[in-house]
Amino acid sequence: MKELVVIGAGFAGQGVVNQLRKNKNFHITIIDKNNFISYKPLFPDVAAGRLAPEIIEYPLGQYAKSKKIDFISGRVSSINTNSCEIHINNSKIAYDYLVIATGVETAFHGFDHFRKYAYTIDSLEECKRLQHDLQIKLYSDTESIKVSIIGGGYTGIETATHIRQTIVRHKKKHNITVIEAQDRILKGMPEWIQNKAVKHLQRSNIEVLTNAGVTDITGTAVHLGKQVIPADIIIWSAGMQGTDVASFFSSLTRHKRIDVDNYLRPDGLENVFIAGDASSLYRMSVPIAKQYAEYAASSIVLLEKQAVPPPFKAKDYGYIIALADHRGIGKLGILPVDGLFGYLFHYFMCGLSLLGWKNKWRLLTSILSNMIYGKESAAPIRTAEKKTLEGVNNE
Ligand SMILES: Cc1cc2nc3c(=O)[nH]c(=O)nc-3n(C[C@H](O)[C@H](O)[C@H](O)COP(=O)(O)OP(=O)(O)OC[C@H]3O[C@@H](n4cnc5c(N)ncnc54)[C@H](O)[C@@H]3O)c2cc1C
Repeated sequence: MKELVVIGAGFAGQGVVNQLRKNKNFHITIIDKNNFISYKPLFPDVAAGRLAPEIIEYPLGQYAKSKKIDFISGRVSSINTNSCEIHINNSKIAYDYLVIATGVETAFHGFDHFRKYAYTIDSLEECKRLQHDLQIKLYSDTESIKVSIIGGGYTGIETATHIRQTIVRHKKKHNITVIEAQDRILKGMPEWIQNKAVKHLQRSNIEVLTNAGVTDITGTAVHLGKQVIPADIIIWSAGMQGTDVASFFSSLTRHKRIDVDNYLRPDGLENVFIAGDASSLYRMSVPIAKQYAEYAASSIVLLEKQAVPPPFKAKDYGYIIALADHRGIGKLGILPVDGLFGYLFHYFMCGLSLLGWKNKWRLLTSILSNMIYGKESAAPIRTAEKKTLEGVNNE
């Protein structure tokens, strides 16, 4: 039996497991730095308090048990591709085949000290932290909440509209600014999508600043040279880069994603595959991550049969930016999408790939109650915390 090790239990990692778990020729071990799986496309909803974090979280131990594979929680400290060994938690794991599917994380582009003052939308912990701190502000006697979001990509735009909706529903005023260094938001997307998004933001009273380079962030403001934007909440969503696992390979892109050949192999290695966002070939997307996984799994089976896999080619089925107010803008294949259909389609697709029937059901009821009754499903801050706040406010 061959040892297959998969590092990263996101869409790509799970995809490889799903393809090969019934194949008796492989013993599979999955490694993740977390002991749970989280669902990234719904991070903006959690951050804004529209969804309870538990809905998008699934225990990895339970996942591994149901798939009859081994699971190790921890960060890989090194990979020796000559001896085919991984070092983790002070022990060694040998592999015959290795799939790296560690995704990406927020890039601070050399301004790492900004991390201290800014929330990111790249991990469940960070989204929970933002949700909690936003709720503290919502239940305080502050009349207006100032939010600065740095980065006008889809994460920044979705988060801006969701947070605005939450603040408005709590009958507070808001002052939300999206700050983009380039000349347009949603750079790389078609112009009609950019224009519709800008109009939507303007109508929602969200300010958009373009050609605006951030020079400093403090606990209370974002600095754009001499211009100072006061902020109660600062969110950094200005780009992504590969994770620390990328540093075990020699050829990386500017954003630390791992360079691969047409067979998804890095550094000319025959038995190592890079799948999902960690790889440099395509844009970051769930359907593409799943295609990487299918390809890596079928290549491993072919290599076992001494056959040569064909080169990898992924299909891009499009994307939808889910804005609050029940609007999804994007394209499906070549078809432009704008409106309620796009919004519902986004959440339907999320529901399909969410793990656990209970989570799927809770997502459905949360989205419906959000649409019909205007309710957020995240639990308000605990009563004790609220009382403390009220005490502070009454002083
Ligand atoms: C806010 C946001 C919204 C998005 N919305 C959409 C959307 O609407 N539609 C869409 O198609 N795509 C969307 N994406 C992109 C999509 O989530 C990614 O393309 C997809 O998650 C990639 O899957 P992956 O398996 O490559 O990586 P991930 O899903 O990121 O999984 C990586 C896994 O590796 C683990 N890991 C990381 N580093 C290590 C390490 N050092 N050691 C061990 N384990 C590690 C992580 O814990 C994680 O479990 C969104 C992304 C974000 C951030």
